[in-house]
Amino acid sequence: PTHRVVIVGGGFGGATAARYIKQRLPQAEVSLIEAQAQYYTCPFSNLYLGGLKDFDELGHDFSNLAAQGIRVITDLATAVDTEQKRVHLAHHAAIHYDKLLLAPGIDFKWNALEGYDEAASLLAPHAWKTGPQTQRLKKQLEAMPDGGLFILVAPENPFRCPPGPYERVSMIAHYFKQHKPRSKILILDAKDAFSKQALFQQGWQQHYGSMIEWIPFAQDGKVVRVDANRLQVETEFGTVHQADVLNVIPPQQAGAIAVQAGVTDNSGWVPVDSSNFASQQVADVYVVGDASIASPMPKSGFAANAQAKVAATAIVNDLLGQDPAQAFYANTCYSLIAPHHGISVANAYVADETHVIETSGGVSPLDGSAAFRQKEADYGAAWYKAISQDIWN
Ligand code: FAD
Repeated sequence: PTHRVVIVGGGFGGATAARYIKQRLPQAEVSLIEAQAQYYTCPFSNLYLGGLKDFDELGHDFSNLAAQGIRVITDLATAVDTEQKRVHLAHHAAIHYDKLLLAPGIDFKWNALEGYDEAASLLAPHAWKTGPQTQRLKKQLEAMPDGGLFILVAPENPFRCPPGPYERVSMIAHYFKQHKPRSKILILDAKDAFSKQALFQQGWQQHYGSMIEWIPFAQDGKVVRVDANRLQVETEFGTVHQADVLNVIPPQQAGAIAVQAGVTDNSGWVPVDSSNFASQQVADVYVVGDASIASPMPKSGFAANAQAKVAATAIVNDLLGQDPAQAFYANTCYSLIAPHHGISVANAYVADETHVIETSGGVSPLDGSAAFRQKEADYGAAWYKAISQDIWN
């Protein structure tokens, strides 16, 4: 009988898995269910906010995956029946699977931060899924007067893209420096430390002087209430901050379909077997990318791609009755502080069933030369091209 593999989500994790499963097992029927006809990446969306990229450059469609024989279905998966092994769709007939891979990314915990619900996100965008939210934030920044205050509310761990909020303020500072140099940026953080912190802070000082201020948890940085109508936020100890543009990155959890399928735990994320990303709770369901619990791997597009390749191999080996392979993972997160100033963190990992173990890694050096920072900016751009090619192009 033909093997039937169904994948939900055509982002970094899901599209990678679809492509690699179809490549390894051309005779299998591989269906990719993705709600959007066009996927816009979060990587480089900060560069769009900074004026270094057009929005269209972030878009990828699924025509190349379809051309490889993957059945691409543009629809929302509404439910998974893990007993009958079927995925229900909003507008198409239900699909049977032998193996199901979920890569739905994140959803937001609306109201976990008091006052921040979906309606509030129209006034104070999160822009943490690239799309209309990102365009809205950019318009707000463009409409802001010179001398205004941009506030970014950064969440506790774990969340999508640990360096993302700090790259975002860097790119917005770059935009302000060109167009509204009297403006200020305030980061209100629920944490006391963040990814590549020393490198970011050194870069901010170098390029933007005192434009960016970071308030950590210990200095009353944690926001507990949002008034999106007034563009005000209130911290744990009652300090009210007034913004001109307010970007709230709220607490997150696995995409809704993972919750519906019964693969999430109390944390809202999905516990998996670290060696193949199979759900610990439901047979024949695999979950990769941001939705999964893969710490110390970050929730990054690079990691989702690496996890998807391991899961794809595991799915194919299992369907063919072959022995499992040893899992290796890698991650690199590039961030841009200014157009010619890139930094990175890179790690390699191995895994047994219960743990992902970091084997090596490190960050860019402090006090790097201008030439070194330029090279890392170039590597970041090359990474984006290469991974897009690997996944969608
Ligand atoms: P996603 O890429 O979000 O894909 C999930 C897909 O599933 C979506 O297309 C969604 O429409 C679809 N979907 C969900 N539910 C359903 C359903 N029920 N039915 C049908 N379709 C569904 N990572 C890096 O590696 N490098 C970077 O430089 C980087 N920069 C970032 C900058 C920002 C500002 C942000 C926010 C993130 C950044 N990331 C970066 C992180 C990266 O975007 C995520 O880690 C990555 O997208 C995770 O991939 P995923 O496949 O898990 O989810």
